[in-house]
Amino acid sequence: MRTGADYLRSLQDGRRVYLDGERVADVTEHPAFRQAARSIANLFDIAADPALRERMTFPSPKTGEPVWRAFQIPKSAADLKARRLFSETWAEATFGLMGRTPDHVASFFAGYAAAPAVLAAGGNQKFADNAVAFYEFMRDNHVYASYAIVPPQIDRSKPAHKQSDPTLYAGVVKERDDGIVIAGAQQLATGGPLSDYIHLSCIHPLQPGDENYANCLAVPVGAEGVKLYPRRPFARAGNAFDYPLSSRFDESDAYVVFDNVFVPWERVFIYRNIELSRDQWFKTPSHAYGNHQAQVRYVTKLRFMAGLAHRMNEMTGNIAAPPVQIMMGELVALATVYDAMLLAHETAAPIRDGIVWPSIVILYSAMALQSELNGRMLEIIRELAGSAFITLPSSSADFDNPEIAADLERYMRSASTDAKSRVALMRLIWDFLGTEFGSRHAQYEKFYGGASFLVKQNVFRNFDFKRATALVERALSLPALE
Ligand SMILES: Cc1cc2nc3c(=O)[nH]c(=O)nc-3n(C[C@H](O)[C@H](O)[C@H](O)COP(=O)(O)OP(=O)(O)OC[C@H]3O[C@@H](n4cnc5c(N)ncnc54)[C@H](O)[C@@H]3O)c2cc1C
Repeated sequence: MRTGADYLRSLQDGRRVYLDGERVADVTEHPAFRQAARSIANLFDIAADPALRERMTFPSPKTGEPVWRAFQIPKSAADLKARRLFSETWAEATFGLMGRTPDHVASFFAGYAAAPAVLAAGGNQKFADNAVAFYEFMRDNHVYASYAIVPPQIDRSKPAHKQSDPTLYAGVVKERDDGIVIAGAQQLATGGPLSDYIHLSCIHPLQPGDENYANCLAVPVGAEGVKLYPRRPFARAGNAFDYPLSSRFDESDAYVVFDNVFVPWERVFIYRNIELSRDQWFKTPSHAYGNHQAQVRYVTKLRFMAGLAHRMNEMTGNIAAPPVQIMMGELVALATVYDAMLLAHETAAPIRDGIVWPSIVILYSAMALQSELNGRMLEIIRELAGSAFITLPSSSADFDNPEIAADLERYMRSASTDAKSRVALMRLIWDFLGTEFGSRHAQYEKFYGGASFLVKQNVFRNFDFKRATALVERALSLPALE
């Protein structure tokens, strides 16, 4: 199986990643990406561990070799659970703090391959075959893809083709015998600088006239003309003691520019087709599998969050106070709702054409409320913290100066631990919710699955109003009372 070392070596492919006015020479050594790349490499090693073979892999139907369960197309509830356990194992390795680990986009491709007839509709068999072939290639070679499926926020008041320049949004600009050429930008490839392939498509509704933007394809990150512009990195913000999470798990979010990128036909899965551009997400289980993985990751993160808050209260000596226990009760009730919903969208999973889908209405309900409830949970921790994250020394260097360290040891300890342990825990929690890394995470949980007004529309479309209104009809037709 592909190991972490194999993965790290393959990132040295001349990819164009631009940071602070310069091209990054090697993402595996640049301080902005070095540790995050190693955190991903660790996932490859976990999946390749023979002791975890059953949990992390299934035999490829093509080669018989072990491949990641993220690529498994579930035919039973047990298969869906096996996918969950795979993703949970990876999520625990990153404390749920890396959202677009390789199992995310792998799940989208498993969804396309589970229902290729959707992509083949209207005589598009060749493109559907390409999608299945790429899925098999990814599966059998343990490929890590990131994706950019949202048009840039340049002018949302106009459709893609009516932007001030038709090549602002990533779209096809030239058709050749052997493939197509893509120009324009798309957001927001989380993990882009660390992935093997970029999956480009569009989840925003497109209008007639937008055909050039209605594509689904994959290109190697190192392909000629692919340029990545990541946001400001957090990894180099300080040392690992002061920024224990930023320094290890900053997966990066990158704006992708396609500077006339050639894409061979074999890597084109939808071409200039507005209807399929929409149907790929909701008529195949791609969006459902991808976001099932996202919820597995989120539930792991919430478990970590609950643990952090509990340890914080132990440290401050407030843990036995009834009002604190009541607020903690609310926090863990919310976390438990998410845990239970995750299990529920597995147990209420419908089977369509022999393929198991997670329950869409439960999945989208969880995602729709995440935008607000995640903020509520963070707010509870802030409320319980008081000044816990602020009454700390300026950096770990203070512990190295004996004169300062003596004061820190005396005045910054807690009843249960020495000063350094207290500071380490508070730094961990602050990095979780207060640093730039923590703040980006709050934004991530709001928007990783799209703006919540769109997710709420998904819930609306899928809720069983027929059953609900049948109750209303029955209530209205109750026999008159004597
Ligand atoms: C940290 C992070 C990581 C991400 N990672 C990825 C990734 O890996 N790949 C990827 O493709 N995408 C990713 N996304 C998601 C994505 O790119 C968008 O941020 C997300 O889909 C929301 O779209 P937008 O930012 O364009 O916001 P907009 O669509 O502009 O919406 C912003 C806000 O405007 C309001 N609004 C806009 N239009 C309407 C309307 N019609 N009705 C009501 N209110 C409206 C709402 O309040 C909405 O929340 C990520 C986002 C974040 C924040």
